[in-house]
Amino acid sequence: MRVTFLGGVRTVTGSATLLEKGSLKWLVDCGMFQGSKEHEERNWNLQAYQAKDLSFILLTHAHIDHSGLIPKLVKDGFGGKVICTRATLDLCEVMLQDSGHIQEMEAEWQNRKGKRAGKDEAIPLYTAEDAAKSLRHFQTVSYDETSQLTDGVKVRFQDAGHILGSAIIEIWVEEAGAERKIVFSGDLGNSDQPLVRDPSVVEQGDFLWLESTYGDRLHKSREETVHELLQIVREAIANRAKVVIPAFAVERTQDIIYTLGQFIRKGSIPPIPIYIDSPLAISTTEIFKRNSDCFDQETKDLLSSGENPLDIPGIRYTQTTEDSKAINEDTGTGIIISASGMCDSGRIKHHLKHHLWREESHIVFIGYQAEGSIGRRIIDGAKTVKLFGEEIAVKAHIHTLGGFSAHADQKGLLDWVSHIRNPDLQVFVNHGEEKVSLEFSQLVNQQCHFKTTVSQWKEKRVLFGDEGEAIPEERVEEGIPPQDVFSVLFKNLDRAYKRLRRKLKKEKKKGESFYDPKHLKELEEVNKKLEELESEL
Ligand SMILES: [Zn+2]
Ligand SMILES: [Zn+2]
Repeated sequence: MRVTFLGGVRTVTGSATLLEKGSLKWLVDCGMFQGSKEHEERNWNLQAYQAKDLSFILLTHAHIDHSGLIPKLVKDGFGGKVICTRATLDLCEVMLQDSGHIQEMEAEWQNRKGKRAGKDEAIPLYTAEDAAKSLRHFQTVSYDETSQLTDGVKVRFQDAGHILGSAIIEIWVEEAGAERKIVFSGDLGNSDQPLVRDPSVVEQGDFLWLESTYGDRLHKSREETVHELLQIVREAIANRAKVVIPAFAVERTQDIIYTLGQFIRKGSIPPIPIYIDSPLAISTTEIFKRNSDCFDQETKDLLSSGENPLDIPGIRYTQTTEDSKAINEDTGTGIIISASGMCDSGRIKHHLKHHLWREESHIVFIGYQAEGSIGRRIIDGAKTVKLFGEEIAVKAHIHTLGGFSAHADQKGLLDWVSHIRNPDLQVFVNHGEEKVSLEFSQLVNQQCHFKTTVSQWKEKRVLFGDEGEAIPEERVEEGIPPQDVFSVLFKNLDRAYKRLRRKLKKEKKKGESFYDPKHLKELEEVNKKLEELESEL
């Protein structure tokens, strides 16, 4: 049994793992790389995926960083089945076609610029039509049912509690007379989210691919986060200002609609205009309503009391670009929820252009912002960002609310992995930024005593069976090379400095309370420590 780490290693995007049992080859996830240019270039060369030789793709969930390269692979000759849950297929129907549209639009945009510069014609990675064609390959399975895919390979999908239809995938592989179990955590959910259920527990396994998106962080509780959002909305109402929420069309948007609905249902805020400005979010909200059997108990109760958790007074869905533009002509208070969640594409860019420079506006980040994205730059304290070729000043109130995350935090991940009872479990930590995966890998090793590894991109390994004995010992324990530590520290220091300055500036504006003696003392200490370090180096 061999594996190749094709994506989601030392980065959060592009999740894909190639598994090979003799001549049988299959993938778990086939995600698109997003964020930096260097990573996005990987989307174009998928030779290592061996599209034509794959028998099937097991898909954990519909997010593009897990499913986004399926149409490209079909274009490259993949003829097998994509196996996933019913809700994942429903979501992929809209998300992959939307992704195809985005690819087409980007190629068109590049061509407009490129022609003037005399460049070759850009072609889209795949089109909306390619995406539609790829859907014919999908085949659905139910949660909790074990299916025999082929001789010696069985799978079971269990609820990962991350987004509608998301799954943890368990694979049993028999080779050379022995059966081993490989588990892919997929993206694991936060346990107190509304709408979706909590992640299922897995107690057995020999090999585990474990996500680590928030392996370095603890989320604030949902209660605290909800309270923070309420305060922001109230302040905006008092100042007749707008709240702009960049949200991923799937799950985060529905979660926010649900939460704002609760504020209005309980009378915490008056009904105010709430714009859902993302055609994709509109169709996914419909899919949510259709798949209410995936909901958790709290939401089911609300439904049976006759309320629809996703319909609230004052909500306006905008389909056309004209409707979208009209939102910013309306000067009163209001909430704008728009995609994309990382601000790199879609209508959100227009809203940011209208609101980032306004001191009274609020921009609320609720989802993960990958390195290199516009959203990440704003959070990291950029003074200006470039939107549609124009430098826009960042003066609005910038908030990040971690408690709405669709991902488990460090504690959630550790809790989940600690249920596995096999002391010989081998853990491959993936789906995290390099520094986070490396640190989290050490933490899992220390706390749960499992062997842990953070693989390299395109690394190959023999897991077990005829191809040779288990992984050679020297390749298992992997230290972090000092130059990696240095570059990571460097980047972090830069960011922390910018964030701190920004926060201090903001606090200073608030007046008196800023001059808290404890606060000042701590700052003095930080300064001193920095000076010491400088003189030592
Ligand atoms: Zn995801
Ligand atoms: Zn993901």
